[in-house]
Amino acid sequence: MTDTRDELRQVAQDLREQLEAQLTLGIGALPRPPEPAFVPPIPAGPATPPGMPAFTTLDEVREHLGDCTRCKLHTGRKTIVFGVGSPKADLVFVGEGPGAEEDVQGIPFVGRAGQLLTKIIEAMQMRREDVYICNIIKCRPPGNRNPEPDEIAACEPFLKAQLAALQPKVICCLGTFAAQTLLRTKESISRLRGRFQSYEGIPLLPTFHPAYLLRNPHEKRTVWEDMKLLQKEYLRLTGRP
Ligand code: URA
Repeated sequence: MTDTRDELRQVAQDLREQLEAQLTLGIGALPRPPEPAFVPPIPAGPATPPGMPAFTTLDEVREHLGDCTRCKLHTGRKTIVFGVGSPKADLVFVGEGPGAEEDVQGIPFVGRAGQLLTKIIEAMQMRREDVYICNIIKCRPPGNRNPEPDEIAACEPFLKAQLAALQPKVICCLGTFAAQTLLRTKESISRLRGRFQSYEGIPLLPTFHPAYLLRNPHEKRTVWEDMKLLQKEYLRLTGRP
């Protein structure tokens, strides 16, 4: 017992001497433990765009879209083509806008280009029902012309709200308009394709539009190379082939 007390007294004495020595050297405080390394916050995934209520489901987004008259395309459309596929999809394909067949059926990518997209999805060992497919604009432009900036501006918040509700792991943009709109760039699709970019923290791969492939079948090989990249990233992020 006495030994233990003596030992403690000695420890206290040593400590005092060490502190006095430090004070003599001008060290007035014990060194602080190092700050923990900076851990960047995990990106939260796509956010609901400004000015939109924070929807949590696709149905809520669809309901808010209503019988839309926000741009001039509503005058010529037959049907609003909102999107199709699984609300739990980890992979989303974004195209340009509905064509004649899509306008009639109200389902994206059901015409000739759509049938090619279905084949591409199946070649990736997936089913259309497992992914989600939508477009930059939801109403058919007359004569299948390109979407105009005011039409994209009116429709884009709904696409962003769909992506916020879906929270996909990977996005594939089909063609110029989808890639340029979501990536906020003017770069051509030939320069953008085949390289992953980020849309609000989500890997986004631009590739050629299936309609372009129908006109340029020799580019199918290029798209297949892109799809292999997409498949690999999908596997990495979901653990599913
Ligand atoms: N092309 C598109 O970009 N989207 C469709 O839904 C159909 C054809």
